[in-house]
Amino acid sequence: MKINLKYLRESVKLAWRSSPSLTLANIISVFLRSFLPLLLIWLIKEVIDVITETARSSSGNIHDILWLLIILVIIWFFDEASADLGNYIRKKQSVKLEAYMYRLLHDKAVKLDLEYFEQPEYFDLLSRASRDAPWRPNSILNNLTGMLRSLMSLAIMGGLLVFLHWTIALLLLAVNIPAVWMRIHYADILYNVRREQTSEERKAAYFNWLLTGGRPSRELRLFGLGNYFISLFRKSFLKTKYEELQIIRRRTRIEMISGFVKAAAVFVTLIVVSGETIKGTLTLGQMAMFLLAFRQGMVAIRELLGSVSGLYEDTLFISDTFEFLALREKIIPVSPEADLEVFNESISAENISYSYPGNNVKAVDGITFKINKGEIIAVVGPNGAGKSTLAKLLTRLYDPDSGTFFMDGQDIKHFSPDEYRKLFSVVFQDFMLYNLSAGENIRLGSIESPDSEEKIIASASTAGIDDLIKDLPKGYATVIGNLFDDSRDLSWGEWQKIALARALFRDAPVLILDEPSSALDADTEYEIFSRFREIVRGRTSILISHRFSNVSLADRIIVLDRGKIVETGSHDELINKKGLYYKMYSKQTARFLNEKQI
Ligand code: ADP
Repeated sequence: MKINLKYLRESVKLAWRSSPSLTLANIISVFLRSFLPLLLIWLIKEVIDVITETARSSSGNIHDILWLLIILVIIWFFDEASADLGNYIRKKQSVKLEAYMYRLLHDKAVKLDLEYFEQPEYFDLLSRASRDAPWRPNSILNNLTGMLRSLMSLAIMGGLLVFLHWTIALLLLAVNIPAVWMRIHYADILYNVRREQTSEERKAAYFNWLLTGGRPSRELRLFGLGNYFISLFRKSFLKTKYEELQIIRRRTRIEMISGFVKAAAVFVTLIVVSGETIKGTLTLGQMAMFLLAFRQGMVAIRELLGSVSGLYEDTLFISDTFEFLALREKIIPVSPEADLEVFNESISAENISYSYPGNNVKAVDGITFKINKGEIIAVVGPNGAGKSTLAKLLTRLYDPDSGTFFMDGQDIKHFSPDEYRKLFSVVFQDFMLYNLSAGENIRLGSIESPDSEEKIIASASTAGIDDLIKDLPKGYATVIGNLFDDSRDLSWGEWQKIALARALFRDAPVLILDEPSSALDADTEYEIFSRFREIVRGRTSILISHRFSNVSLADRIIVLDRGKIVETGSHDELINKKGLYYKMYSKQTARFLNEKQI
């Protein structure tokens, strides 16, 4: 066994940083709580001795007894009060520490590279860290203070017992050793089991969401999947719990045996102390004191050993939290860091290649292009051609495996990613639905800029959603979505318009629209595309689409296929070329015309 002192130190630092005053108050309450019970035991001994003396010789002083009793009750009250106060302080500190730990976790989670989110190991680590991070540092603190308290109690109780008989002190120590060994042994086993079970636990949580979440609820009913998912959930859930239960069962069995050994030790002590009292070596008061000291010593030793093994367990489990907090972002400014000037001329890509972690096929393969300021560029290509990946690379959500992006001739890696991303406004294909008010949904596009109602309305109006929002029960203040009371859900196409309004609300010089009309009806789609130049208002725009028929309005069209650029040019140039664009365009427009005729 080896307690990881580094994690222990780090956890104490975290506790201290989260609230120095409460940490101090906690320590003071620990001192009081270890000292007062001892004082009580000593007073009880005094009371018994004075009373026996008074009863025997009928010559004691009633006043002395009364005073002793009053002091005893006062100390008893303070002991109780300090326990209650200590509990309150600990609770308050634990709330602060928990909030502080969540802050650290969330800060890290929002900064981490997107690539981490592609990896199951990352989710396992995140789920272990978020399970333990909020409360483990607290547990470490409690175990440390518990250790301090029990050490202090033990030192005094042990002194008393050594005074009675050193073997009794030794007995006290010996009978508790098996319990500690067992807790430490099982802490290791439990940790390993839980570590291995993380994926299974996440699976159970996922099936639980499928059964109780809003989004899956429609398909679940329609396809009658309830019982199937219930059985999958039960399988994953029971698998994780069953193994844990088996370990705890084994541990409980040994705990019961060690309890029996302790009872035997109490019996031996009782015999020794009774014998000494009968012989007259001990007074009745001393006998009571020793018995209480033995009991208190048992409690202290159990607490001490519990704290030590608890600390061991804590440092094992907190290791995931520190591992998570130590994850390094790779998307950072490369030195020498460059100041980001206003976007003036062009963005270009030079020989960009990228493949996703765990995917050998290149999603983007040797791409080179240049976009001048103010141009409208369309990127088209079949599904899986690499269009969205290109948008993510350009906005530096991922770094390419090779190749360079330039902004006004400067390698974008030298800019701060946060500053650089302020240049872009993006509607992703899988844009977010925020269960917030309609106005807030739009304002989220630029949360730092002042809350301008006019600008929100203007963006909504350009995106063609203003009329609908105005008709909602509370207009722009209506909460949209289906999670909360008094909220109104929207159709997918309406959500898409809200996402477009959000992107337009952001004053970014470059606008990227990834399949912005996929959920729109033909009329709305036509309406948006015919007003496209008015909508983008002179911004450099990148329009991503798999519909070749939508993109003819662009100044230039880049045709992607299997990660490579196969053609570029204006609509007319590409039509004349009679290549992939021509083929796909003819096919899609013919189908569209057929559909219209039907
Ligand atoms: P498009 O936007 O043109 O439809 P994408 O850029 O989304 O295509 O995807 C390009 C290729 O990368 C596809 O083959 C896709 O399967 C793969 N891909 C996309 N996202 C991931 C991911 N997160 N992990 C692994 N492969 C991915």
